Amino acid sequence: MIIDGKAISAQIRAELKEECRAFVAERGFAPALSVVIVGDDPASQVYVRNKARACEEVGFGSRVYALPAETTQAELLGLIGKLNADPTVHGILVQLPLPKHLDETALLLAIDPRKDVDAFHPYNVGKLTVGNPTFLPCTPAGVMELIRRTGVDPAGRHCVVVGRSNIVGKPMALLLLAANGTVTICHSRTRDLAAVTRTADILVVAVGRAKFIKADMVKRGAVVIDVGMNRDENGKLCGDVDFAAVEPVAAAITPVPGGVGPMTITMLLRNTLTAAEQL
Ligand code: NDP
Repeated sequence: MIIDGKAISAQIRAELKEECRAFVAERGFAPALSVVIVGDDPASQVYVRNKARACEEVGFGSRVYALPAETTQAELLGLIGKLNADPTVHGILVQLPLPKHLDETALLLAIDPRKDVDAFHPYNVGKLTVGNPTFLPCTPAGVMELIRRTGVDPAGRHCVVVGRSNIVGKPMALLLLAANGTVTICHSRTRDLAAVTRTADILVVAVGRAKFIKADMVKRGAVVIDVGMNRDENGKLCGDVDFAAVEPVAAAITPVPGGVGPMTITMLLRNTLTAAEQL
């Protein structure tokens, strides 16, 4: 079975559109997201445009603040301060990566945790860790939706996460644990990775290496979720899993593109609605 991230994402966006309509009817205003982008990185510009478009699609307001690459830390902190204080702004997102001269950690700390729709603020990371999250980190939350809406329950299953980044691997493991999975986290220092991945009932891969997971690393009947977004030798978008080889072995698998990718922005929309509901 191929897990259709595009279709599942469209289904959730339709649900969010309905929830947004009900919210506007009750509260008299729409949830609103402010996105800050610094510099002219083409990939970041595409992501920001897609986020603004997604907001429009479900009836949210959105504002994009495009700042020049030479923006200072003080100027950026000033803008964040204004957005924090503005009651018409419900979600704030600073598109990463930032130009090298800016201190990313300090900026993420400056965002009001109640408006931190990316869930990167240590306050929200802590809430997730103690099992009381307000916002779920977008990409791992998208993976959980794909797993659940495929009819798979992680409870009691061996869930192996390959990758331990703060954005994907670590929060992914926490969400699977919260869903009562038995979780193993692997990384670049894991010994005999294949021996571990072969024991996974649910295998989530977030490594950032094209076609890294081969068929002999996957147990027959496993659910395989590929978070990776890479270019192969021909410049074609591909995941961390060798899809053609693994698909016959897996019970269910996400393709790249069309798997996890479409879910991330959808989960950002969900967090923006949550932020608006709570303010
Ligand atoms: P990072 O580079 O931050 O983390 C990669 C992780 O993979 C690290 O923990 C690293 O281990 C581990 N790793 C690297 N090499 C190996 C190896 N040989 N064996 C085992 N583990 C290894 O990447 P991200 O987590 O940010 O992203 C991962 C992938 O997901 C990328 O392709 C990225 O583009 C994609 N992505 C996709 C998103 C989406 O919306 N679909 C969103 C975010 C990311 P160690 O910690 O030891 O170095």
